[in-house]
Amino acid sequence: MSDSVISYQSGPFATVSMGLPGDHEGKTATRVFFVRGADKIALIDSGLYAGLPALEQAFDELGIARGDLDLLLLTHEHMDHVGNNGWLKAETGCQILGHPGRADRVADNMLNARAIVHAFPEGEEFDLNTEYLDWMGPTEGPIESFIRDGDLIDLGGGVVLETVEVLGHSMAEVGFFEQSTRTLIIADPLLPPFNPVLYLYEDPNVMRATFDKIERFLVERDVKAVLFAHDDVKTAAETQELVDDCRRRVDKVEASMVAHMKAHPGITFAELRDKCCDDQNMVREWRALVSIDASLKDFAAKGLARQDGKGWHYVG
Ligand SMILES: [Zn+2]
Repeated sequence: MSDSVISYQSGPFATVSMGLPGDHEGKTATRVFFVRGADKIALIDSGLYAGLPALEQAFDELGIARGDLDLLLLTHEHMDHVGNNGWLKAETGCQILGHPGRADRVADNMLNARAIVHAFPEGEEFDLNTEYLDWMGPTEGPIESFIRDGDLIDLGGGVVLETVEVLGHSMAEVGFFEQSTRTLIIADPLLPPFNPVLYLYEDPNVMRATFDKIERFLVERDVKAVLFAHDDVKTAAETQELVDDCRRRVDKVEASMVAHMKAHPGITFAELRDKCCDDQNMVREWRALVSIDASLKDFAAKGLARQDGKGWHYVG
């Protein structure tokens, strides 16, 4: 028997950690969360495909028969959160619940990979297989029932999960608030500072609104603990510090963009991505293209930047 794959256990929760490969190796793990009520057992996210042995071991360690898993709840469509959907559906017969916004991508691995890794011509240098498809299992597990902000999932015995929309990193992301233990479970709206890639956001304004929403939620709901997909469990005070740090990192991406547009009028999208990644010692890869594109669109909409052919100019 190898070491335990359960990295945290408290009340109805048991967290399973799975190491991430590639640029993330040794730096980040992804976590999935079992939540056990008196009537039902739920798993939040299925993790990446390379973590399947850990997931199988977790069922054994926790003494959960595979057929006893009732629900798979998805936080968002990214590869390291949906990779074992197909395996879980086939092995357990669980019902899969998720936000409607990206249901088409969850149902089609190739679409999911292409829609983000190859969203731009500049991203086509990245191999879909090593960058994305390998992280997802050979079969999909499509969303069967939609959940939206405020929807309650009652697992019995007073264990109730409230769906909380946290958009921006993905435009179809949710977290869950367990009311009896005042525990918030969120995947990627707050990324840890040791994340080796540029902060991934699809809309800087929506991302910042989510930082504000989480900040208010911590106080209004008197949150006791926050469980993260890529970070250790935190208190509300520690989470507040992380919110502030996330704000600073998103601000820093945009400050870099402005500085480089001013210093190099006519700078291209790809050059801007490279310079912003270098400023933060981050890997130059496809995720950064998503964030840089989102901020460029926002600058243009606000009349702060203008595109001339392939070049970008700061006009604010
Ligand atoms: Zn993600």
